Amino acid sequence: MPSSPAHPALHTSTPPRIPPLPPSEWPPALRLLLADSQADGPGRENLFGTLAHHPALAHAWLSLARVLTHEGTLGHRRRELVVLRTAHRLGAAYVYERHRTPAAQAGLTADEIEATATDPHTHPWAPEELVLLQACDLLAANAPVPDGVWDRLARELRPEQLVELLVLAGQTATMCTALNVLRTPSDTTSSDSAARQRRHLTVRLDRERCCSAGQCVGAAPEVFEQSETDGRVTLLVPEPDQRYAADVRLAADLCPSGAITLVDTP
Ligand code: SF4
Repeated sequence: MPSSPAHPALHTSTPPRIPPLPPSEWPPALRLLLADSQADGPGRENLFGTLAHHPALAHAWLSLARVLTHEGTLGHRRRELVVLRTAHRLGAAYVYERHRTPAAQAGLTADEIEATATDPHTHPWAPEELVLLQACDLLAANAPVPDGVWDRLARELRPEQLVELLVLAGQTATMCTALNVLRTPSDTTSSDSAARQRRHLTVRLDRERCCSAGQCVGAAPEVFEQSETDGRVTLLVPEPDQRYAADVRLAADLCPSGAITLVDTP
């Protein structure tokens, strides 16, 4: 299972691999689209400028984005939670920073926006939003969605909303990956995503219960290591940095034998 950085990676000093085209070189339809969608928030010039390298794809991509934004069934608040959490999990500073404004427009408070970039268990999310964030973590890690998580989602969301959730998370992840790999710079300069809630997390591992499935190593390779000798896992960092808290939480959730316990204190 691929691991994911738990904080947005900023590409402020590295030149983009494919520089976004300036608006003067965009197809007219793309310029019109950006002008007509100012209400969707600022900070998309470099995204559009990147897509402008491939006008047909830009049209298809932005059509899907428009449906998800304006004709979606999830609701604005859930949509922005999914986008922010997915962007955070994939280390996509561009997408994360660009969605601060739409998230605020969707009703998320400043504290809630910051909390999307921290361990979800450190914020008093409503249970249905907590499971939504957990689902985003699993999807971003390309991990299986356990029946327990799916059943809780399905109690809250209608079938069309569940389908939309998966498409939205997938579309967001694709954009995050593309912009990360291309090192596309953010249009905004805000870097206050570094402001994090600080909590102290202690990890406990019961090696006797470990059945060597390796889920924890995939979720948090900085914290867990699989022994080449007996296949069981060794704890590398008993008190990991808060940046890895969400990865560790995911590892504990995925562990099939309950070998990992967490002690989370302010
Ligand atoms: S997920 Fe649990 S059982 Fe699997 S290797 Fe890690 S600690 Fe062991």
